Amino acid sequence: MSQEFSVFNPPKRTLMGPGPSDVSPAVLNALSKPTLGHLDPQFVSLMDDVKSLLQYAFKTKNTLTMPISAPGSAGMEACLANLVEPGDKVIVCQNGVFGGRMYQNVIRCGGEAVLVEDPWGEQTKLDKLASALKAHPDAKIVAFVHAETSTGVMNDAQALCQLAREHGCLTLVDAVTSLAGSELRVDEWGIDAIYSGSQKCLSCVPGLSPISFSEAAIEKIKGRKTPVQSWFLDMDLVMGYWGKGAQRAYHHTAPVNSIYALYESLRLVHQEGLENAWNRHQQNHIKLKEGLASIGLTLAVDEAYCLPQLNAVTIPEGVDDKVVRSALLNDFNLEIGAGLGQFAGKVWRIGLMGHTSNEDNVNYCINALKTVLE
Ligand code: PLP
Repeated sequence: MSQEFSVFNPPKRTLMGPGPSDVSPAVLNALSKPTLGHLDPQFVSLMDDVKSLLQYAFKTKNTLTMPISAPGSAGMEACLANLVEPGDKVIVCQNGVFGGRMYQNVIRCGGEAVLVEDPWGEQTKLDKLASALKAHPDAKIVAFVHAETSTGVMNDAQALCQLAREHGCLTLVDAVTSLAGSELRVDEWGIDAIYSGSQKCLSCVPGLSPISFSEAAIEKIKGRKTPVQSWFLDMDLVMGYWGKGAQRAYHHTAPVNSIYALYESLRLVHQEGLENAWNRHQQNHIKLKEGLASIGLTLAVDEAYCLPQLNAVTIPEGVDDKVVRSALLNDFNLEIGAGLGQFAGKVWRIGLMGHTSNEDNVNYCINALKTVLE
């Protein structure tokens, strides 16, 4: 081939979209450390620390807590593929894109999916879930998204879990956008299966999905009559590698350097303190909201349940969504997100996740938006 390929040098952007968020220099530095073998004792010891830090971030004592070597979508599939057996009835709450993906996954696992729908931009209503639980006493699982990134809505995970458990259901929660950005208490709230993503409020590189399963969830998996359809995501097999130190055996080649990065990002969350991180996200959200108001922009979601780490901003009448986003990217190296699905062309999604969530970025974004909109 005669074509020359030059070294790729990405521009330095400020990532204020729906993820990935800006990766902190310490995490990028960790990524570039020498690669170890995936069964090297030093790496195995790091895996134990990653598990402990994930237990800290999820606020759980669950022993089955680890990162899946693939993005958040794989975490979703891991939870559903392991917990849902053909014929199982699963209630899925949907008020945005990602609840819809859970629904599709249940069907692909051979489950019977019951949808509880609420309008985009609103919370999942407890009374609707209560009616569905009454109408379907044979339901085994309730699944929902904690922080719906497509709309900027926070669902009341604690209340939804309590209701589900009162009806004897296991709870399955998408925490891709909430982990380390908003209050989340796996054990206290009674969450049985949960998955997240490395690229949002953890500010790690994309491509890993922290997950955690309760003892009740493990019991359901152990009691399966049919094998988990996915070999790669079968928790029984994955645990051979992520389980107790000395017994570890090859399952797949772990993304070793990405695990270094995840460790560093979790270490930084631990250093800051989880509650402090939640609080920082909330404070910067308030500053962003005030800044938006000062240039005549408003949030599309009620403050009572809007996400601090993902702000859906109503695009003013007559303003071209794409022109604004392109100007921000090209003139300010600033990425904000477009609306998804029903919200396409109607909202911008401004992320303040993890390392990105700071006052300088809030001011930078407001000033850039002001200039572009003038
Ligand atoms: N769930 C939610 C709430 C998300 O925001 C995303 C990604 O944006 C996903 C699941 C899928 O994660 P990934 O893109 O890492 O596969």
